[in-house]
Amino acid sequence: MKLKFYPIAFVLSLTACTEEINKEVEVIKEVEVVKEVEVVKEVEVIKEVEVIKEVEVIKEIEKKAEGGLFLTFDDGYCLDGWLNSEYIFSEYNAKATFFMSRYEKELSSKLISLQNAGHEIGHHTHWHANANTWIEKDGLDHWYKNEVYDTLISMRESGLDVQSFAFPFGVYNQKMLEILRSEFKSARGFSTPHSKDLRNGFLNDGFFYNSVSMDTAYLDDRVFLAMDHAKNEGKNLVLVAHCIVEDWTDRWQITHESLRSILKYANKIGLKTKTMNEIE
Ligand SMILES: [Zn+2]
Repeated sequence: MKLKFYPIAFVLSLTACTEEINKEVEVIKEVEVVKEVEVVKEVEVIKEVEVIKEVEVIKEIEKKAEGGLFLTFDDGYCLDGWLNSEYIFSEYNAKATFFMSRYEKELSSKLISLQNAGHEIGHHTHWHANANTWIEKDGLDHWYKNEVYDTLISMRESGLDVQSFAFPFGVYNQKMLEILRSEFKSARGFSTPHSKDLRNGFLNDGFFYNSVSMDTAYLDDRVFLAMDHAKNEGKNLVLVAHCIVEDWTDRWQITHESLRSILKYANKIGLKTKTMNEIE
């Protein structure tokens, strides 16, 4: 008799197992359905984001259409010359960015007067050292604190709205750019003034901006052709010089005559001068 029971029990247990398996399958199907719905929703969300991005890109292109001329001047020892030449910018209703090195608190009133005249004061490090050499010896954080950050805070405490940075000698790398992003809106490089490639004046990634020289020693017709290009194509052209002087005695100088020729041409073709803060 006992033997007859075994198959029945076996069949029952099989049935029970089968029911459990069916339930499991159902559960899995439910999950699959839910997942499908979620996926559909994700696709919808992704499509919406893409549409919004397209609109943003179109707006950006419309904004960039104007372009601009970014006249920048480097080195703190040129400060008095910048001040004495400010009236030339006023004559042409022009703005510039002055990158200060070797900042000391007693110089702040002179810089504030430039800022009040509509110009921008940028940071060109404290000691104007070669960043690569400094960082090889003492590290990135040491360079940033002693060459950039402490002076930046001091400048801001004096009322200077410092948002832009320029590398001395144009020496830079990606790690420096990353650490500068926390405090600055832009960082400007400097191509060798011997470069004949004026496309450098248009190269940027939205944070790092290259530039070409407009110091009198390196100023020629190509700069004016580049200005035409900026106006016609709605591009941003970044030029760099150093001291502003009446008579040229050094290659790191731009004469009043050279400066006037640039400002006059910009006005003639309707190319607006802007400060680095206004770059888009
Ligand atoms: Zn410099």
